[in-house]
Amino acid sequence: MAELTMRATRPGSRARRPKSHAPGRVCQDGSCSTLVSRYNQSEFCFHHRPVKYPRLRGVFSEDYQQQSA
Ligand SMILES: [Zn+2]
Repeated sequence: MAELTMRATRPGSRARRPKSHAPGRVCQDGSCSTLVSRYNQSEFCFHHRPVKYPRLRGVFSEDYQQQSA
């Protein structure tokens, strides 16, 4: 019976969790309920996390400001 012989603990199982944040976190933006991955070090979801603005000669383009508004 293969099932009986496969009972051994496998590496990578729940017994050894990678270091991560607690699961089930929600974006810290008050109006957002997007779940944040526990592997995501940000408190915010993809859309609300603080953005590192690219430098465009020190001036934000209008397009970029609209994206991040
Ligand atoms: Zn969000």
